Amino acid sequence: MSFDNYHKVVEENDTVILYLGYENMHSIKVRGGHTFQTKYGALRHSDLLGKPYGSKIQCPKGYLYVLHPTPELWTQNLPHRTQILYSTDISIVTFQLDVRPGSVVVESGTGSGSLSHALIRSLLPSGHLHTFEFHKERAEKAEQEFKEHGLESYVTVNHRDVCQNGFDLEHVADAVFLDLPVPWEALPSAKTALKKEGGRICSFSPCIEQVQRTCEVLTELGFEDISTMECLVRNFDVRTVNLPIPDLGGGDSIETSSIKKEKNTVDEESDKKQEIVKSNADGDKSSAENAKQTFDFIGKKEDKNFYFKSGVAPTQMPGHTGYLTFATLYPA
Ligand code: SAM
Repeated sequence: MSFDNYHKVVEENDTVILYLGYENMHSIKVRGGHTFQTKYGALRHSDLLGKPYGSKIQCPKGYLYVLHPTPELWTQNLPHRTQILYSTDISIVTFQLDVRPGSVVVESGTGSGSLSHALIRSLLPSGHLHTFEFHKERAEKAEQEFKEHGLESYVTVNHRDVCQNGFDLEHVADAVFLDLPVPWEALPSAKTALKKEGGRICSFSPCIEQVQRTCEVLTELGFEDISTMECLVRNFDVRTVNLPIPDLGGGDSIETSSIKKEKNTVDEESDKKQEIVKSNADGDKSSAENAKQTFDFIGKKEDKNFYFKSGVAPTQMPGHTGYLTFATLYPA
């Protein structure tokens, strides 16, 4: 199996994503002779072998799709051993750290390997990820997963306490990422790990006091361009706007008055929807709940053949799980 090299058909030992719906996905390792229980009944792994990725697979009571894994799908389906970073934050991290093919990146802690998979995809085919984790089993499990996913040549997993013992890397990294409870303790060693020509650093922290402390130490160490970001999820409110019907003279025909009546109903529904979105935004519901409620509301109206469409699919990916602090180290 290889996450880095897309292949067309499902093979023995591939890690695949079973897609039964946006909110119902599973990752499995395909092994002939095994079965996997889905809400549509038992799926024999052997039914997947040789099928092109993207195929519709019939189960006893319904169907699913078999998908090639990507870092984003892996993030949504990986076994959680820790809290993880989601693709919303990950996209900012890879962009702001300027991770690209050939980059050398240092990361700690490895955790469940969610961010690691995305970093590796961005630095392929010639870069390298050095990831550090002080929990022995997590480090071993991550190493095993990278191997199963065909990524072992792009990543070195180190079992190490980076706050106590540092990274033991000198001037090799283009970027460093920290997801640690006390990131400031690892900053001096992170600075040494960055290349002499400088680089970027990011620290992820859920609480603002950690951010303040990190910023202070970054400043003491000579980092510049320090900025903290948070990624907030916002739902797009997509609507078709009905323009007023022009008065072309000659009075209302039966046809135009019926269009007007329907338009008025549509406008009323649209206003009601706006109110729901606003009251949800004012309240303390999560964005996912807000989006779902909006979507359900519109879905019902669509069933009654209203001729406008609106709403977006429910948002599943959490935003703002923490603050992302970025900084640059310039050459001395
Ligand atoms: N970013 C990861 C992901 O997306 O899957 C999740 C990281 S998890 C929140 C934090 C990890 O840091 C934990 O697995 C923890 O064991 C590890 N950790 C905490 N302190 C550490 C230290 N001093 N040295 C190395 N790893 C550490």
